[in-house]
Amino acid sequence: MARVYNFSAGPAMLPEAVLQQAREEMLDWQGTGTSVAEMSHRGKAFVAIAERAEADLRELLGIPDNYRVLFLQGGASSQFAMVPMNLLRGKGEADYVNTGTWSKKAIAEARRYCAVNVAASTVDEPLGRAPAQHELALSGERAAYVHYTPNETIAGVEFSYVPETGVVPLIADMSSTLLSRPIEVSRFGLIYAGAQKNIGPAGLTIVIVRDDLLGQPLAATPTMFDYKVHADADSMYNTPPTYAWYLAGLVFQWLKARGGLEAMAEVNARKAALLYDTIDASDFYRNPVDPGSRSWMNIPFTLADPALDARFLEEAAAAGLTALKGHRSAGGMRASIYNAMPESGVEALVAFMREFERRHG
Ligand code: PLP
Repeated sequence: MARVYNFSAGPAMLPEAVLQQAREEMLDWQGTGTSVAEMSHRGKAFVAIAERAEADLRELLGIPDNYRVLFLQGGASSQFAMVPMNLLRGKGEADYVNTGTWSKKAIAEARRYCAVNVAASTVDEPLGRAPAQHELALSGERAAYVHYTPNETIAGVEFSYVPETGVVPLIADMSSTLLSRPIEVSRFGLIYAGAQKNIGPAGLTIVIVRDDLLGQPLAATPTMFDYKVHADADSMYNTPPTYAWYLAGLVFQWLKARGGLEAMAEVNARKAALLYDTIDASDFYRNPVDPGSRSWMNIPFTLADPALDARFLEEAAAAGLTALKGHRSAGGMRASIYNAMPESGVEALVAFMREFERRHG
C-alpha cells in the first residue's frame, strides 16, 4: 500500500527519508554487521551516534553551553513529577498556567509535591486561548518556577509569546511544539518533550535544563528521577532508549539538511495558514480556538453537522488521509501537522475538505 498522510497527534509521521535510511541500515549499521538496536549503549559505535544526535540538536536549537541535554525515558508524563521533584530547591510553591488537558495533568502531579498557584486558567472559556502576559498572576520569587504548556496538543491552543518570569525559572512542556520553529533556549530554565511528535518515535523524552538547576532534588527522589544522575552519566546511567535516540538523530540530520528551524518555521506557518484559511472560508467547518492562540501543529475542527463525523473520517481514510479523529475528550476532528507532514499532505486534506463540503454542506 502507498504511504498515507497520517495526521496523528503522536506517535506521528516520521520523515520518509529517515525511515528509508533506517531501513537501509537496519541489518548492518555502517559496516559493523549489527543493527543499532543490537548495539551496546557503551560501545564506540553507539556513543558516536548518541554524541552526533546531541550535537545536531544543540546546533538546531542553538542550545547554550550551560544547558544539559538529556535523552530519557518515561514520556512527558514522567516530567510532570520530575520537574517538581528536582526544581523546588527548598521552596514549597510553584506557579502553573492552565490552558488545557496537559497543563491540568502537570498541575495535578505537582500538587503531590508542593502548593500550586494557578497563575491563570482559560480552560472554562468557550474558545481555547492562551492568557496574555498581563493576565498571569505570578507569585514572584515565592515560586520555585513557572510552568506552562506552550502548545496544548488536544485543544490546539498555542502561546504566541514566551512568558516573562524575571529571575524565576520558566519551565515548558514543549512536547508538541519543540523543533517546529526556532526558540531562544536561554529564556527557559527547563524544556521537556516526549519525542513521538516532532522528534522521533515514542520511548524517548528530551530534557534541556540549565545546569545551575541541577543537584537539589527532594530527599525521596528516586535515582532514576534525578536529572543530575542522568546529566552526570551523559544519559547513560542505565540503558537508554538506544534505537529511538538513533532515529531522533536521523530526524535532526534531516532537519539540518532542510535548512534548520527557520526553514521549518516557514513551511509550518504556510501549512497551518492553508488549513485555517480553508476552515475560516467555510460555514461548514469551525476551529474552536481564539485566532491569536491557534496552534501551528494541532488543528482541531468540527463539522456543522456532527452526524457526518463518521462519514468524514471514513471517506478521508479512503482518500489516504488518516488519524483525523479528534481526541476522545474533545470530539470532532483534529489534524496534527508536525514537521514530517509534507505540504502536499495539507494540500490533499484541504482539497478533500472542500470536496466533502460540496457534497454534504
Ligand atoms: N504533554 C503534551 C503537551 C502532550 O501532547 C503529551 C502527549 O500527547 C504529553 C504531555 C504526555 O506525553 P507522554 O505520552 O510522552 O507521557
